[in-house]
Amino acid sequence: MKLSILMSLIFAFALVLNTLAKLWLLSRQVKHVAQHRAQVPSAFAKSIDLPSHQKAADYTLAKARLAWYDLALDTLLLLAWTLMGGLAWLDQLLLQAMGPGLWQQMALIASFIVIGGLINLPLSWYRTFVLEHRFGFNRMTFSLWCSDLIKVAAIGSLLGLPILALVLWLMQAGGDQWWIFAWASLSLYQLFVMWIAPNLIMPLFNKFTPLQDPALEARVSVLMQRAGFTANGFFVMDGSRRSAHSNAFFTGFGSHKRVVFYDTLLKQLSSDEMEAVFAHELGHFKHKHVAQMIGLQTLQSLLGFALLGWLIQQTWFFTGLGVQPHMSDSNQALALLLFLMVLPVAMFFLSPLSALHSRQCEFQADSYAVQHSSGPHLASALLKLYQDNATTLTPDPWFVAFYHSHPPAAQRLARMPT
Ligand SMILES: [Zn+2]
Repeated sequence: MKLSILMSLIFAFALVLNTLAKLWLLSRQVKHVAQHRAQVPSAFAKSIDLPSHQKAADYTLAKARLAWYDLALDTLLLLAWTLMGGLAWLDQLLLQAMGPGLWQQMALIASFIVIGGLINLPLSWYRTFVLEHRFGFNRMTFSLWCSDLIKVAAIGSLLGLPILALVLWLMQAGGDQWWIFAWASLSLYQLFVMWIAPNLIMPLFNKFTPLQDPALEARVSVLMQRAGFTANGFFVMDGSRRSAHSNAFFTGFGSHKRVVFYDTLLKQLSSDEMEAVFAHELGHFKHKHVAQMIGLQTLQSLLGFALLGWLIQQTWFFTGLGVQPHMSDSNQALALLLFLMVLPVAMFFLSPLSALHSRQCEFQADSYAVQHSSGPHLASALLKLYQDNATTLTPDPWFVAFYHSHPPAAQRLARMPT
């Protein structure tokens, strides 16, 4: 009983601390961007005009306002599920309807996801059709938005339910070492999904057409050969169906790798600049950033499963988070859900570490592109992308430290010869 109250107190304290820190970061970001709105920073005076700079500031401020509502909703929802007894209520309801067993546990997790999704739906609608629309980024129709939702739900169920059933079953039947089996199954399954995604999942959402630019393809092929990179074709993705934001990326593994450019990117950049952006992506490959990230995540997930293997045996973990564990053995879904809700609260103050690592990877990729392609072209491509995506040039340094996977424009350009 004492441990249970202690667990509640620690969780409540950590949640308050998280929320205050996030509010503080948001208010810093708002203040910083608003303060620098009147003038283009001197380093960009020649390349970015005042209206673009102010649009980026207004867009950033609008996103920050929405983030405030997001934060309030997330915090309330987390409290409602845990200390206010929402999860316990849902569990009892399904127990009465279905009785204990694997199906009840699957239903608990599925309803948890559906309820969370429905509650977040209005904000998601607002983000696309009000915020993105106001700044001229949204290209989505309401019917495309709806069909995306249906597809995500269908594919999520198709891919998610079998592995969920397997993990829940292993938790029940796998003995004391269940967490090793569950971790291994989930890790292999994630690799499998990453492997099938480019050919089976992504085409459900976008059209991929071969790149019709032999000159660009030839230039990019030279870079690829030098890096020892083999790709199974170059594709253009119709990103403009949904948004005016732009990007470029690799998908797939081994010889199945594809190079994908957003059609929006092709419109914005010259072929010199495209080559430099591609060289940046190649830099990520050359430095093995993706492989390292998968390795790190797999390791983190092993630690997570080991911790869950211990927590599931502690009554205070359940009662401290507002749930009465069953006398029978079927607490697996409850433990899994509580763990996944509490984990981000426990880990928030570590997020600057992973953001820092990600920003260092970006610098490495930039310097690869400068060496093997062209610094001035990468710099002008970045400036265009910052401008077209209305990315602020003046983010708050603390906000960057916690949230940004990419370094601010000024820092990236300072390292490039222009
Ligand atoms: Zn990058």
